[in-house]
Amino acid sequence: MPGPQRFEGPSDLHLHSAHSDGTQPPAEVMAAAHRHGIRTAALTDHDTTSGWAEAAEAASSLGMTFVPGMELSARHEWRSVHVLAYLPDPDEPALRAETTRIRASRLDRARLIADRIARDYDLVWDDILAQTTDGATVGRPHIADALVARGFVRDRAEAFSGILSPRGDYYVALYAPDPVTAVGLVSGAGGVPIIAHPAGRAGLLPMRLIERMLDAGLAGFELGHRENREPALGTLRALCRERDLIVTGSSDYHGLGKPNTPGENTTTDDMVARVVARATGSAPVHP
Ligand code: AMP
Ligand code: FE
Ligand code: FE
Ligand code: ZN
Repeated sequence: MPGPQRFEGPSDLHLHSAHSDGTQPPAEVMAAAHRHGIRTAALTDHDTTSGWAEAAEAASSLGMTFVPGMELSARHEWRSVHVLAYLPDPDEPALRAETTRIRASRLDRARLIADRIARDYDLVWDDILAQTTDGATVGRPHIADALVARGFVRDRAEAFSGILSPRGDYYVALYAPDPVTAVGLVSGAGGVPIIAHPAGRAGLLPMRLIERMLDAGLAGFELGHRENREPALGTLRALCRERDLIVTGSSDYHGLGKPNTPGENTTTDDMVARVVARATGSAPVHP
């Protein structure tokens, strides 16, 4: 039996590629992380594992450890909840079926949003397709990029605060499972579920929902993330200490799509080791 594996940081466990709404191919994402001094990196595209192979190969050739991951979409009432899934089995049927369903409905929903925007702006579906790579998980960021390309907004941030805002006329919600189901699917696939940016602008999730997620196998919270805010952050910090939960910190890098830079938040070596020790679905790739 091999002993517990050691992980060498700095570790950044939340990075996006063009397989979802990042702007670079997985190999370039790993190269960007490497340039910022990262030694262990995860790829966590929304609702897909399709970037893993390219990222793993690139990470290895750069001498980095690769942790396969995903950011699974979930929804609680009106708010979206993102469940980071580390080291799940990418072929486990239930998780696979759900991600397939989410990606398909994201595509339908993007078309609906585009149709609504087209009533007021000269924007066609091809403009959006031009911003996505084949098979990528489609999201509002791609519509934002199309709006930028057409000159209607300056950048993604302006699109999100205006045309793409959930409070605006053009918004359509996406299909996503409830957070307890999402956590259960990740655990069921041998993955380690961690709630991404859990103390963002929407504030703390209801404590009884958090309890139900913990019962379903929730492993911890991404407390190191630029969007987290007090007082929700302090509440979760106390909860994680009390229950001995896993705590991560990450950049949520999206290439040019967000100002976030690799390594702006990191996860400690012992927490990375705890994530890996808990996973049974797949294994990290060492150089
Ligand atoms: P969607 O999942 O299609 O509803 O889009 C949400 C995604 O848009 C998230 O994954 C974020 O990465 C991205 N996003 C949200 N707000 C912004 C923003 N202000 N600037 C850039 N990207 C954003
Ligand atoms: Fe994103
Ligand atoms: Fe997220
Ligand atoms: Zn993310």
